[in-house]
Formats: sequence, structure tokens, C-alpha cells
Amino acid sequence: MKFAQRINRVPPYLFVEISRKIAKKKAEGADVISFGIGDPDIPTPDSIIAKLAEASLDSTNHRYPETDGLPELRLAMSQWYHRRFGIELDPDTEILPLIGAKEGIAHASLCFIDSGDIALVPDPGYPVYSVGTWFAGGECEWMPLTPANNWLPDLSSISDEIASKAKVMWINYPNNPTGAIADQSFFKSAVEFALKHDIALLHDAAYTETYFDDYKPTSMLNCQGGMEAGIEFHSLSKSYNMTGWRVGMAVGNAKMIQALMTVKSNIDSGIPQAIQYMAIEALNMNDNQVRERNDIYESRRNKVVETLNSIGIQVDPPKASLYVWAPVPAGYDSATFTSLLLDEADIVVTPGSGYGPSGEGYIRLSLTINDNDMERGLARLKALDIPNR
Ligand SMILES: *Cc1c(COP(=O)(O)O)cnc(C)c1O
Repeated sequence: MKFAQRINRVPPYLFVEISRKIAKKKAEGADVISFGIGDPDIPTPDSIIAKLAEASLDSTNHRYPETDGLPELRLAMSQWYHRRFGIELDPDTEILPLIGAKEGIAHASLCFIDSGDIALVPDPGYPVYSVGTWFAGGECEWMPLTPANNWLPDLSSISDEIASKAKVMWINYPNNPTGAIADQSFFKSAVEFALKHDIALLHDAAYTETYFDDYKPTSMLNCQGGMEAGIEFHSLSKSYNMTGWRVGMAVGNAKMIQALMTVKSNIDSGIPQAIQYMAIEALNMNDNQVRERNDIYESRRNKVVETLNSIGIQVDPPKASLYVWAPVPAGYDSATFTSLLLDEADIVVTPGSGYGPSGEGYIRLSLTINDNDMERGLARLKALDIPNR
């Protein structure tokens, strides 16, 4: 068989490897507790499931959906966006429903990247930005995220030569895996940078609805020029505990939305219509439900941070996202500390190095684990005697 180079070029998807490791441990009879994957343990709210039951009985929903979704869905998305961020979007030209944000993120590269083109990609970062670039034949220019710069890319360190060649820049706040947030002044400088160098600014905003304390994330499109510079990706997965149902959206620049529609309409046939009705229900839901859900995550966050601090791993509580990003103890790297936790405490965490070279020296703990398992996992962590290396 003669496979395309892209098949061998991509590193194995991080979570596939972790899943294999967990399966092996479990087969050996271990009681493994996973802080690994960011997949909400809290079920989809009942009122949303009720919509699926209802819509599934209507035979008009048994047929092919449209790629760009029901007009009612795009309207609900624009109303949500207005309610949440105060921005008016045209439901017909500035919004495109996605089969999950991941799908749109991967396909967006096909809109901008030809063979040899450059994408500016955060390191560490959600792997789909780089893999989407490679699948399109492009090259990644890494933008290191470091604690010194509050896990934001240092735009001033990007040379004019690279900036003039780059076609897209990916950013993601609240951030996976670091839990970092960006304020409006960062978005403003990213928008200005993108406009100056004619780069499409692609903001993955999958975590705008998982926030803590007195913080509430904003939209890149709130900046002057934001609608000109790019698009923002949203997802109902983390926002409404709907990872299994696959609904997201791309919003912003109409020409970019149109290009994404060109790609998608030739590849997929949209979100199953009964699921679109679930999405409408979710988007119209009372914001108190989001707040109550976030209170659960916030209390878990506090426990994780407290436990880590108690064993000498100093972390600041993240203001948003579903992750605690923690430095590994001296003498360890991401892989050796991850292995120690799995071998000695049957705890799974994600090695930071799996998100890019600048993630080395960190681990990521996810808050999407039920309270009982979390308590047991944290007790093991607390009791762990970390050997000197
Ligand atoms: C979970 C996640 C997504 C994927 O969202 P889906 O809508 O479930 O595809 C996108 N971006 C980041 C950074 C994520 O962590």
C-alpha cells in the first residue's frame, strides 16, 4: 500500500496513547483514576435530551441536513452571541454551525493553507491546529507560550519575514492546556498584528463558558477590526456538557465563513437535524445553569490546586478552562512524572510535552472527573512520596 505522507507525518494523537496505557493498567486489575481527558463527566441537561427525543420522532429530521444548518439554529447562535458578548452577527453570512469545533478547526486550514504555506501555531497547544496545517500541506511556525509572558504568544518576537509569509495565526483563550486567559488588550494587539500582516486570525474560543471566581471571558470580535481580522470557533461541548453530540460554530468574517462553507459543503452534510434542535435548546438555556455547573468545576479546581500546593507543586488557580497546568517536581520531566503517577498511584495525567516542546516540564490535570473519584485520586496524590531523582 502506498499511503500519503500525511499519514506518517502526524504524531500519534495524544489521547490515543493515553487511552491505551489506561486500558493496559485496567486489564492488570488496577483501579485507575484519570485526570487525563477533558470530557465533562456531568451529563447533558435533561431539557436538551428531551429535545432530541422529540425531534427524533419527526421524520423531516431523518433526512440529509443542510451543511449550514437550520436557519433557526443560526438565529439561536446569533442571539446567544449577542446575549453573551454584545455583538450583532448576521446569521446567514457570519455564522456557520460545525460538527464540533474540532471539525471546523481542522477544515479551516484547507481554506488558507496551500503546500508550503506557514501557520503560526501556539506551543503548547491543542494538537488540531498543527495537524490541520500539516494535512493541508503547510508548515507550523511555533509561537512558544511561557509563564514569563503569562502563556500568551509574544507577537513582538515574530520576525517580519515570518509574519509576511504566514497565512494564519491560531490563538486559544481561555487556553487548553495551560488554563491561561487573555484580556482585551491581547486580543487587540493580535487583531492589529493580523491586519498589518494580512494574516487570518483564528481564535479557538471553546472555553468561554467555563470560568471561575469573578472572571468572565470576552470575545476577540469585541475588538475594533476583529470582524475584519478573523473568525472565532465556539463549541457546545464544554459549554453545555455536550461533547457526545458534536455541535460547534464558526463566527466572524463573512468571507472566511464563506470559504469554510465551500470546504464543508463539499465534504460533510452538516449536523443531524435532531441534534440541531438540542443545540437550539442549549443556546436558549438560562445562564444560571452554566453558573451552577461552573461552581462544581470551581470547587474541584480549588481541591486540585490545594492538593498540589500541599505536596510542594506550586500552582495558581486558573480563572477559566477545565484544566490545572502544573510544573513537575525538580529532577523530573513531563514523561517521567506522568509515569511515576501512573505506576505508583494509578493516576492518569496528561504530560505537557504532548502539547508541544514548550509544554515540557508540566502536566495537565482535568477537572472533568466526578467528585468521588477526584477525592480518591487527590488522596492518593497527597499520600504519594515523590522520590528524589
Ligand atoms: C475540546 C476542545 C475543542 C473541541 O471541541 P468540539 O466542539 O468538541 O470539537 C476545541 N478546542 C479546544 C482547545 C478544546 O479543548
